[in-house]
Amino acid sequence: MSESSTVAAPAARFDSLALDAKLLRAVADSGYESMTPIQAKAIPIVLDGRDVMGAAQTGTGKTAAFALPLLQKMLRHENASMSPARHPVRALVLTPTRELADQVAANVKNYAKHTQLRSAVVFGGIDMKPQTLQLKAGVEVLIATPGRLLDHIEAKNAVLNQVEYVVLDEADRMLDIGFLPDLQRILSYLPRQRQTLLFSATFSPEIKRLAESYLQDPVTVEVARPNATASTVEQRFYNVADDDKRGAVRQLLRERELAQAIVFVNSKLGAARLARTFERDGLKTAALHGDKSQDERLKSLDAFKRGEVELLVATDVAARGLDIADLPAVFNFDVPFNAEDYVHRIGRTGRAGASGLAVTLVTRSDSRQIGEIERLIKKKIEIEPFELEDTRPRRRLRDDERRDDRREERREVRPAAAVPRRAAPVDPFFDRPYEEPENAEPSWERARVEPPTKTPSIRPKKKVAALLGG
Ligand code: AMP
Repeated sequence: MSESSTVAAPAARFDSLALDAKLLRAVADSGYESMTPIQAKAIPIVLDGRDVMGAAQTGTGKTAAFALPLLQKMLRHENASMSPARHPVRALVLTPTRELADQVAANVKNYAKHTQLRSAVVFGGIDMKPQTLQLKAGVEVLIATPGRLLDHIEAKNAVLNQVEYVVLDEADRMLDIGFLPDLQRILSYLPRQRQTLLFSATFSPEIKRLAESYLQDPVTVEVARPNATASTVEQRFYNVADDDKRGAVRQLLRERELAQAIVFVNSKLGAARLARTFERDGLKTAALHGDKSQDERLKSLDAFKRGEVELLVATDVAARGLDIADLPAVFNFDVPFNAEDYVHRIGRTGRAGASGLAVTLVTRSDSRQIGEIERLIKKKIEIEPFELEDTRPRRRLRDDERRDDRREERREVRPAAAVPRRAAPVDPFFDRPYEEPENAEPSWERARVEPPTKTPSIRPKKKVAALLGG
């Protein structure tokens, strides 16, 4: 269904592209000297008007890879009119999380800053009114999470009948979260004649199906996946008892002189509690998890990005897709339930060629998950003993706290991770991105997680036939 990109060693300089001086100026303002691989490969193809299936994660420069050529194409509509009718939505970017939407929107605004093209972002968890005002005033580029976008469509704030370009960002995560029905509905509002770009870190059979249904003759653009570029990330696995984990993190921060780190945990409750204890240990700490309000999450993230916070204790869902420049280290305080989350987590560090450290604290009960990570990253994992030097008294968890933690962890296990994995956890992305294993069961046929936003008229499950049949 798709052809592979055979772009041969494209020129790495942005000014070798057919991009307007206004966009090149914004690129130069951002301090970018040369293109990242995904940019060098994708930008000419997008400028050419082709649909793209991009295998790239946040951190590879993929936002500019789609935003710059789309802005270029939209420049023909650029105008200074105050009339909203002159600023219809022409490009729609859908992302799985609010944080990613916010981040993409900030990048788009930055790349478009010397043009008269307008952009706006809408996501749930905050007041709809300011978003509505922006939409009513007219925007050319709309960045949105699916649930909130549907709310705006239903309220007739967002009119999408002039959309020419659609980007499905982190499509695998959108399906994981259970956004497939919302996506299908949104796509049904869009003109059929359009250019569609799909980005995904992994190409599972369900992503392939999504692409088959909504992309036309796409060009596949791949850049090295994070585990293939792991040379920039030093991955260490230490054997540490539960009660020693905090001490191990503190010791490694000291020994490796790490100014900042994200500490990943598997549960919301665990994140809140651990953040409090690190704070008591004297570390400036913020927590990022699903029980925090949107406002609190953005504040924590901003404080971390500004360097006011040393440790960000986060759960996977809250931290997905975050782009934090120069993050020196990531700790897996808990081994993730799902091996793919390991790849996502360690992808937070070692970006754009910078070196990074990813430390995973392993207890005896983690051997199954470690085995799955090994299979996914295709590398033997050496678990090293950890010499704990910290002599400060450690506060041991009370029995009831341990029980709470375990209960909470169970609650947060995603059904996809809880079911036994099919056959050996093959890696379709790495070997043959588009060859669907036989009898593969699409994720929407398995138990699914409730989408974070509720749209009553959406039915939670759809048959594959309905998806393919349109
Ligand atoms: P993204 O994958 O789009 O989230 O981008 C990751 C980070 O790389 C962002 O902080 C971008 O500002 C930065 N970036 C994007 N393109 C380039 C480039 N060509 N050179 C240097 N940094 C870049």
